[in-house]
This record gives sequence, C-alpha cells and structure tokens, in this order.
Amino acid sequence: MSILEELRPNGHARVYDLVQKSGVDVAEWEAGKVANAAANPNFCFNWAFVQHGRVVVLCLWHEEMTEVDGVVSYSWDVPLKGKHATVVRRIKQANEAIREAFESNLPLRIIVCSSANNGPDKPHRVAARCLDPEPWHVECRLESGAATLRRGAGATTADYEDQFDLAGRVGGPTERIERQISVFMRRANVRRHALNRSQGRCEYCGQRGFGMGSGKIYLETHHIIPLYENGEDSSENVIALCPNHHREAHYGEKGDEMRNEMLRKIATVMRATQEDGS
Ligand SMILES: [Zn+2]
Ligand SMILES: [Zn+2]
Repeated sequence: MSILEELRPNGHARVYDLVQKSGVDVAEWEAGKVANAAANPNFCFNWAFVQHGRVVVLCLWHEEMTEVDGVVSYSWDVPLKGKHATVVRRIKQANEAIREAFESNLPLRIIVCSSANNGPDKPHRVAARCLDPEPWHVECRLESGAATLRRGAGATTADYEDQFDLAGRVGGPTERIERQISVFMRRANVRRHALNRSQGRCEYCGQRGFGMGSGKIYLETHHIIPLYENGEDSSENVIALCPNHHREAHYGEKGDEMRNEMLRKIATVMRATQEDGS
C-alpha cells in the first residue's frame, strides 16, 4: 500500500480535538460563552491554526496530495480571486500561517481531509478527517503565498547555521541588531531557504560546510548580485557558500565568472524544486 493510501482518513474526528492534540491552545474557542466550543463558527471552519513559535496546523485535502518516490507533498496555491469574503479571510489566514511556519521553521501538523460532494461548482465537504502522525514542513514559499509543503520533519534550523545566526548569538551590539532587525527579519526566510536547500553543502563547489562544536554545519549565505546593485533579496539570488568561496566571490579575480556560474546553478536547482513540487 502506498503512503498516500495509508494516509487516507476514514474517521470523522472533530477539528477541535485534532487541533488540540497538535499542541495548539483551544481556550479561545470557549470564548463568547458558546454552547459547544468544538463547533465555534469563528474557528471550526478555519484552514489553519497557529500556536506562535511552536506549531502550525493546516487542513489539507487528501485528494490533492501527491506521492513521488515515497515523499508526500502538497502544492499550496489558492487564488483569492472570485472567492467569497469569508473564504478569502480563511485563505489569507492560512497563507500567513504558512509564512510563519516557513520563516520560523516551525513543524507543520496536517489534518488530512477527504471530501465528498466534489462537483466542480459545489463546495468541498469534508467526509472524513484525521491527524497525520508525522510532522510536515514548508519546503519553499514564494511571495505570492504559493508554497510546497512536504511530509517529514525536513532540515531544521538546528542543522545549519550561517554568519548571521552566529552574529545574532555571539552578541553583536544589541543596538545595531535592533536597528537592523527589520532588514534581518525580511532576509531570514530567504537565508533559511538557501541553507535548507544546500543540505549543508556549498552550493558552488559541493563541499560540506565544516561541523561546529554545537553539531551544526556552518556555511555562509551570500547575495549573488549584491543588494547595492539592485540584486533581489530572493531565494533565486541567495546562495549558501563555504567560507572560502564566499571570500573568493567578494575578493577573487574570478568574481564575475563565479557570479554567472552561481546564478546558473541556483536557477537549475530552483527549477528542479518547482517541478517536483507541482
Ligand atoms: Zn565552496
Ligand atoms: Zn557575500
């Protein structure tokens, strides 16, 4: 039996119970003295539930999951256009939850739903649902909100570090960090994406970054086209490098050649990720 087949839900557990089981506080559901907290309409129809800094829970359709080589994925790309205002609110909230999971590298827990009444014009109705016992993670995410979600814990922040992680911890002047925090936060997800994409290897030469005392792997993140040359702060323009190649990219005589090579390499990797995410 395929993994996807094993994941098909057959029970009809309540969203409330599954969300609570995932580690999200459901106290809010009780607010407003509702007769039945589990059926609180402010929550029970939502697609996403967040315990900030801890976990994100998403409801996904089993029918839309794909399995390739034993890896289960979900292409999240829900257009807002033409949707009822209530649905737009749910989509935006889910997009926001996915962004938080991506940027803060939170585990995703998935409530797997199978649908009944699946005609083209009819709204999906949930026929069965269950909580996937395995965590998922956000593999990549675009500014549009589209994202590739993948089953399994994925590479976590804990595995790879770059010079910015180090500066934040070793304690650069706090004041400077505070002034830079908005820039820093904007870049965090992009850096994180490059580090996870690299799987701990220099994306230019393929060498493994060195192991740190903490057991993490060290690489440096670098804008291929610098921001001052109007390079984008995007996954396509950020590369994870071994310290040696990072210095060479900045100061080496082959800098321009390296730049073109890096752009080519990253474009190829990104294309491959998008293809197996769809
Ligand atoms: Zn290298
Ligand atoms: Zn650099």
